[in-house]
Amino acid sequence: MKPIKVTLHHLALPLKRPFQTSFGKYVIRNTIIVEVEDSSGEVGWGEVAVDEGPWYSYETLKTAMHIIGDFIAPAIIRKELNDPTELQEKIRHVRGHRIAKAGVEDALWDLYSKLLGKPLYKMLGGIRDYVECGVSIGIIGDMDMLIESVGKYLNEGYKRIKIKIKHGWDVDPVKEIRKTYGEIPLQVDANADYDLEDIEVFRELDNYNLIMVEQPLSYDDIYDHSILQSEIKTPVCLDESIKSIYDAKAAIKLGSCRIINVKPPRVGGLLETIKINNYAEKHGVGIWIGGMLETGIGRARLIAAGTLSNVKYPCDISSSSRYYEEDIIEPEWVVRDGIINPLSKAGIGVEVVEERLNKYLVERKVYR
Ligand SMILES: [Mg+2]
Repeated sequence: MKPIKVTLHHLALPLKRPFQTSFGKYVIRNTIIVEVEDSSGEVGWGEVAVDEGPWYSYETLKTAMHIIGDFIAPAIIRKELNDPTELQEKIRHVRGHRIAKAGVEDALWDLYSKLLGKPLYKMLGGIRDYVECGVSIGIIGDMDMLIESVGKYLNEGYKRIKIKIKHGWDVDPVKEIRKTYGEIPLQVDANADYDLEDIEVFRELDNYNLIMVEQPLSYDDIYDHSILQSEIKTPVCLDESIKSIYDAKAAIKLGSCRIINVKPPRVGGLLETIKINNYAEKHGVGIWIGGMLETGIGRARLIAAGTLSNVKYPCDISSSSRYYEEDIIEPEWVVRDGIINPLSKAGIGVEVVEERLNKYLVERKVYR
């Protein structure tokens, strides 16, 4: 394939309802959709799942536009690429900025799969044609509303419930959920809100038979998590701390976690996701795939990654309609009874609706 044009579409999509985490509240989701046009006329789509500010990661909308526009696009335009794995070679000189890189890699995977006429999940070596889905519930702050929403998602068939926790909203909601719904598959995500001094919170959570406690300590830490994991029986799952295969190796060797939540954008793309999948599998550490409020384009890559061999837990992938009034793709992604299926069409399998791309457009940059 030979990319001849890279277009970045900065979109702002209104969320159906605000989504609260320990680092902020989302009302509108900004995102960058990457469109790569090949010399054959075929087009590939990707998504740069960044925030406006440096909250989940240091990368922002503006840094991603800058890094792709000034460094990544020029490195691939009018260059012959045998397959998407060659992208990393071409941009070796760009350190970090993994979310930006992943968005471009996504588009190349979609393009490459379309050129070969194969669905993306098969190109990645996926071993099944379905993904089990769990749901992630933000910090609601009101116990009755939380209990009601857990009930609603259980009725919808999600395979496990995850609640976000932070200081002051941790043991009590877990206790209430257990009291109301018994031994449902339940886990918590702290989004790095605690440190080792808070170990008592995790000792208490240990009494509730949680599947895992996700990213309890600092977003950059690996060592302190090894101490926490040695002190509690609930498996620690690392999310923010794992930014590459090297972090995954360190965390596994140090015993910092027993599970990894791989977000393909965070680790730099699908290729790095496969590396982590394979390494963790060899060492008996299961993974699952997490999301970052992606539109249907980014969601497609999550679903494809969710079919990898070492995905052992339900993934944070929900229907398009959970977050958005309307997605920018057709058909929209739908979770049925806690299951979502990759499509058998070539590439990501869904079509981008041009009219909706324009409707939510903030800015468009074209590179040739
Ligand atoms: Mg998380």
